[in-house]
Amino acid sequence: MSATETAIASAEAHSAHNYHPLPVVVASAEGAWMTDVEGRRYLDLLAGYSALNFGHGNRRLIDAAKAQLERVTLTSRAFHHDRFADFCTRLAELCGMEMVLPMNTGAEAVETAVKTARKWGYRVKGVPDGMAKIIVASDNFHGRTTTIISFSTDPEARADYGPYTPGFEIVPYGDLTALREAMTENTVAVLIEPIQGEAGVLVPPAGYLPGVRELTRERNVLFIADEIQSGLGRTGKTFACEHEGVVPDMYVLGKALGGGVVPVSAVVSSADILGVFKPGEHGSTFGGNPLACAVALEVIAMLRTGEYQERAAELGDHLHRELGLLAGGGAVEAVRGRGLWAGVDIAPALGTGREISERLMAERVLVKDTHGSTIRIAPPLVISKEDLDWGLDRLRAVLSA
Ligand SMILES: *Cc1c(COP(=O)(O)O)cnc(C)c1O
Repeated sequence: MSATETAIASAEAHSAHNYHPLPVVVASAEGAWMTDVEGRRYLDLLAGYSALNFGHGNRRLIDAAKAQLERVTLTSRAFHHDRFADFCTRLAELCGMEMVLPMNTGAEAVETAVKTARKWGYRVKGVPDGMAKIIVASDNFHGRTTTIISFSTDPEARADYGPYTPGFEIVPYGDLTALREAMTENTVAVLIEPIQGEAGVLVPPAGYLPGVRELTRERNVLFIADEIQSGLGRTGKTFACEHEGVVPDMYVLGKALGGGVVPVSAVVSSADILGVFKPGEHGSTFGGNPLACAVALEVIAMLRTGEYQERAAELGDHLHRELGLLAGGGAVEAVRGRGLWAGVDIAPALGTGREISERLMAERVLVKDTHGSTIRIAPPLVISKEDLDWGLDRLRAVLSA
């Protein structure tokens, strides 16, 4: 057996099968490239679902992590530490908001947003106890906890995990009329992804996000933007909401905030909203730890220059131009996305998304399929134009084979 086969067989024997990875075993990575246990190099067009916006082994992030590893890694929030205030201040600044509540994974940040909205609903808006409702969109992806999958519309994510957490109302994504009709005086929040990543990089119709903003403001409802995947440069702006000139009441951030080095997530909002928490009412052992703060501070510093956003916008225009040429050629049915982020619907006759991904892997390009025959393309924002073009050539080769 090859080193690859041995590693896969042993992973299959000893790990739960809650994933179905492509049969590549990565041993090291740098920038937009990964090298497997047999020395083969692959172009990474997934970037850890956008956790790796700044590329593998980013020097600034690795150096920041190493320096912090030598000083202090964890204090718990029982004590202050000397990276915490800076992290919260700089992140709030980047978001144009006032307060930060740090957690670790995206799902925890979404849970935090849900708890914040409910508490705000009872304490500030005056919703009767136990009656708070949060409106979410169909085909959402907000994470994997029991509460979050309670409002998923994906049977795979949801089946056999009941009883489900009540208090959520699902409306079709992109439909303002349905949203307006679903609102009652007990609605405390609307929680949506400004671009739905896992659903296939679905960009809502123009005017949708401003419409959500207007409706939520009118009805005294919090607008919570889950920018865990869309935020922090991916779409060519710091936040996907910016494309529509919209500022939500709360950003939920994760993935790229930890630079692919450590899990770092956060809810960022105003003082009157995050101010609802008193000591002991919410927390996390690892949330806001020194190592996480040190890495995230470097991520924030890189985003403050705007160069990554600009790069994502420029390379993204190029990517969408090239993919647009493929669309209509028979092999590609539709292309969606913004910036360096695309969902590509392959003609089902050519194979499932999984099959296309496997063929691309044979060509040394790594992508991930979503539902049906859709693949998504989200390279690290540090990818060179030449490498991106090389990847697109491989895609064209696979589609014309
Ligand atoms: C990935 C993701 C999450 C969940 O993040 P985890 O770190 O995997 O818990 C939530 N929302 C969106 C939009 C995501 O893309």
